[in-house]
Amino acid sequence: MSRLLVSDRRIKPAKRGPPAEPTSDPKLQLAAMLVESSDDAIMATTLESVVTAWNPAAQRLFGYAAADVVGKNISFLLPADRIDELDAVLGRMEDGARALRYESKRVHRAGQVLDVAMTVSPIREPDGTIVGTSTIAHDITERKRTDAVAAEMAAIVDSSNDAIVGKTLEGVITTWNRGAQKLYGYTSAEMVGRSVSVLVPPDRPDEVREILADMVAHDARTDHFETQRVRKDGRVIDVSLTVSPIRDSDGVIVGASTVARDVTEQNVMAEALKASELRSVMALSHAKDEMVSLVSHELRTPLASLLGFTELLYSRELSEPQRKQYLAIMLREGRRLSDLINDVLHLQRLEAGHQDLNVAPADLEALIRRAVVSAGEDAKAPIRMLVSTPLPLVIVDTDAVLQVLANFLTNARKYSPEGGSILVTTRVVGDMVEIEIQDHGLGLPADALPKLFATFYRVESTDRRLIKGTGLGLAINRKIVESHGGHVAVHSDGPGRGSRFMFSLPAVVDTPKAADVLIVEDDIGYARLLQEQFVARGLTAVRAGDAETAERLLREGMKPRAVVTDLVLPGLQGEAFVGRLEADGVGAVPVVVLTVKNLAPAEISALERVGVTAVLPKEAGASQTAVGLITQALAPKVRGA
Ligand code: ADP
Repeated sequence: MSRLLVSDRRIKPAKRGPPAEPTSDPKLQLAAMLVESSDDAIMATTLESVVTAWNPAAQRLFGYAAADVVGKNISFLLPADRIDELDAVLGRMEDGARALRYESKRVHRAGQVLDVAMTVSPIREPDGTIVGTSTIAHDITERKRTDAVAAEMAAIVDSSNDAIVGKTLEGVITTWNRGAQKLYGYTSAEMVGRSVSVLVPPDRPDEVREILADMVAHDARTDHFETQRVRKDGRVIDVSLTVSPIRDSDGVIVGASTVARDVTEQNVMAEALKASELRSVMALSHAKDEMVSLVSHELRTPLASLLGFTELLYSRELSEPQRKQYLAIMLREGRRLSDLINDVLHLQRLEAGHQDLNVAPADLEALIRRAVVSAGEDAKAPIRMLVSTPLPLVIVDTDAVLQVLANFLTNARKYSPEGGSILVTTRVVGDMVEIEIQDHGLGLPADALPKLFATFYRVESTDRRLIKGTGLGLAINRKIVESHGGHVAVHSDGPGRGSRFMFSLPAVVDTPKAADVLIVEDDIGYARLLQEQFVARGLTAVRAGDAETAERLLREGMKPRAVVTDLVLPGLQGEAFVGRLEADGVGAVPVVVLTVKNLAPAEISALERVGVTAVLPKEAGASQTAVGLITQALAPKVRGA
């Protein structure tokens, strides 16, 4: 400062004009030389901010030559928003400040804004009167930029979820971010200055030293490696570490930074995945083994007897009764073979999810009755039905549900070698209907119950040695029921005490009330074809797989504007159904009959008498004709649509 104070002598308050003549005073000459050669920009101004001195460094910094600026108000250097700064600084000087150090911004001649550090000192007359100020300024733009980058980096490090720890080459912790606190449980205050060895499990005493030595030796970053660390709470965690060298400004490695990530959970998951993959591979290969043994046994047995009897029939002269007996055996074995192949294929389709369900409202009671009829009479093991009323309609694929019922009923008889009655009951539970099949047969040991619905599972016991089967029926049942959103269950009080099999199906919560057409057709494919053709014409259509379901729909308030029905139906026949339409609340709507039956004219007139509009033989194009007829009859609605 003193040298400037020396040069002050040249400055007179509020004096304008060229700088004073060169002095002959050696002290002043030295001072002037120092100012000229300084690397810092040095400027002097009057109390009115008029520039009185401007050294070459100021020219380098701000782009103006002394000749351009001396005598001018220095405000040209200030950005517009900092004009007040000059007065504020002068005010501080007058308040007795010796020197002011601060950072500010100034505008270069070329327009760019520079960050500058300034030291402003008062220039005084010998009597102490302030007559101006001297300012030393230097460019800190670059420093500011690196400060900003460093601050940003520090913020990134601090906010990282990874634990980032800096340490010296001796392993003394120098930095500890929030991620580290989260991972290890220690705060930065607890850890900075301590040895990193606190974190290392006791069985790896040399690990840190080796890592650091390796890093220095190879002058390189370590790629991720997995190890273990100990948390503050003592818990050992699996971590993935990346160690990078920290260098000083000369590039010499002075420490290391470690990024750690907790991979404990990831490792546990990977282990679990491996285990479960292994299990499923084992299960798969086990299932395959079972399949192979089943094929070799179950398929070969009927095939062997088929081939054996064919050979006999072919090579021997047999009596007629004998021939018939052999053919009967062959037929039975052939059927068994065909059942087995069908079961395997069916299950395979169900498991692959290729079996689309064709669901429609159905009268469960009619379905059960049909299954009971199909099971046939057996005086030793009669089947009784106890159906709770009113039983809601269920929304199911009728073919699939009939198969489920058939499997349970067949088993009930098959595993009741001594006979005994079989009871089918139903009950409504929430929006599901539960169906139970109870028998008084062989029953089941408790340990078999959990495995019973598994593919190929069969109970091995002496009393069932002679009962043939594949172990697929219950697995198929479970698949079908579950794909309807229901579930299966089994209960038995033990061997010899009978079994109870239960399954549930979804009930129709709201019977569709408004539909243009009711389609009564047990051939699901044909029913869907009709439905799609109606929909294409802008009409809504509801399918019923049998006349009982159709009647239930009508009784529950469905008011179709037209009916299409088959005549050959599983339970109640089409003729009876159309005859009762009036009684079911559907009068005077178009009714089209589609049938494979070859009807006599009298039969056709009988149908017409009960209100049938048209009888069409089920042949190519018949569905289109039926849809066309009905669309025409309902035309106003279609035009309006
Ligand atoms: P399969 O009858 O072809 O062996 P299932 O999958 O239908 O195959 O049945 C699996 C096993 O469950 C049968 O082997 C049988 O031991 C047992 N099981 C099924 N139904 C009954 C029942 N009603 N009573 C006793 N055991 C049964």
